[in-house]
Amino acid sequence: MKRYEDMTADQRREEYAAVRKAYEAQKALGLKLNMARGKPGTEQLDMVAREMAQLTRPEDYLAGGLDTRNYGELAGIPEARALFAEILGCRAEQVFVGGNASLQLMYDAISKAYTHGMLHSEKPWGKLETVKWLCPAPGYDRHFRICQSFGMELITVPMTEEGPDMDMVERLVQDPAVKGMWNVPKCSNPQGIIYSAETVQRLAAMRPAAPDFMLMWDNAYCIHELEGEFVPFPDILSLCRQAGNGDMVYEFASTSKITFPGAGVAVMACSEANMAHMLSLIGVQTIGYDKINQLRHVRYLKDRSHTLALMQRHAAVLAPKFRAVLTALEQLAPLDIAQWTRPTGGYFISLDAMPGTARRALELCREAGVTMTGAGATYPYGVDPADSNIRIAPSLPPVAELEQAAQVLCTCLRLAALEKLGV
Ligand code: PMP
Repeated sequence: MKRYEDMTADQRREEYAAVRKAYEAQKALGLKLNMARGKPGTEQLDMVAREMAQLTRPEDYLAGGLDTRNYGELAGIPEARALFAEILGCRAEQVFVGGNASLQLMYDAISKAYTHGMLHSEKPWGKLETVKWLCPAPGYDRHFRICQSFGMELITVPMTEEGPDMDMVERLVQDPAVKGMWNVPKCSNPQGIIYSAETVQRLAAMRPAAPDFMLMWDNAYCIHELEGEFVPFPDILSLCRQAGNGDMVYEFASTSKITFPGAGVAVMACSEANMAHMLSLIGVQTIGYDKINQLRHVRYLKDRSHTLALMQRHAAVLAPKFRAVLTALEQLAPLDIAQWTRPTGGYFISLDAMPGTARRALELCREAGVTMTGAGATYPYGVDPADSNIRIAPSLPPVAELEQAAQVLCTCLRLAALEKLGV
């Protein structure tokens, strides 16, 4: 098979007719498949559900001397703080264990900056004319939506293989209106990029003009390898402190892809000074989060090495799903109409279609019963200037369905590319 761009007009017309026929046949199957969101599959959830510690007798609810059934311990039960400190490589006093979702902790931190101000804020951001925020892209759509909902000006920073373009970041943070930046430093959503040691070090040592700059460190996929050995990651809190930026960083993680999304445990890690400031504000909004759920998680996950072993069992379920999609995508290689990532961890494959064809390809997918994350979602304001990036989420459907869905996607990418080139 030739590159589409090298085909003559006649060859392209012929190819279009053949691919269109395949598309109509796929459409006639009346499929209803979904590769839109990074949800764990039923097999993963069942595996956890069978083993998640059951608290039944009254004494099961005691964590040391602490009764998790009652009020207390705003920052989370000590066992849970210690467990996540061990996983993240920081100190237990730097860990706040919250409710069921890290996105809520991220939203809440930014919200507090607007209403009350952060530790080093001159005034609450709500009183500022302009707030700008750095958004490495492709990135996580829900991060961008938080910023948009507060009316910030979102600045796109291109991703490289090593993480965000650091020359650009270092230049942009000299503007005092730039108040923060999103990061998914390990197995980024959607590209699966692991920030290089140099990128992490440059981020930790930045000199932002804003005294209350927030380096948002969303470590959502910090132990989520799909294949190969666990890849250790640096403790960003220590790196920032050593660079004299101890209060700049807020790290987040959760068990959404370890136990149950929506019924897991979320954490925020930050300097002790930030922790004191945040606790003084959080203590007004709640007397405490769900400590029973925290205890259930500690009993189940036990410690870092036990948690890593569990993650290998998740990987055993997920890896064949990723392989199914990657194998199907190989048919596109000789046509030269798309590039895609081969992630070693995380929940996504990122595909760059021929510029100007992502929207059209996904519209064709939808008509054939395959739901994908909307085109543009991986960019600030939901607009991909190149109309190229497509996020593929292979975690939820069973392998057989994924194979079908990936075939449909390939057909749609081919049709969209041929239409673009002219048929
Ligand atoms: N951060 C990233 C990068 C994610 O991909 C996701 C889930 N898709 C989340 C956060 C959401 O995590 P939680 O369930 O803890 O809110």
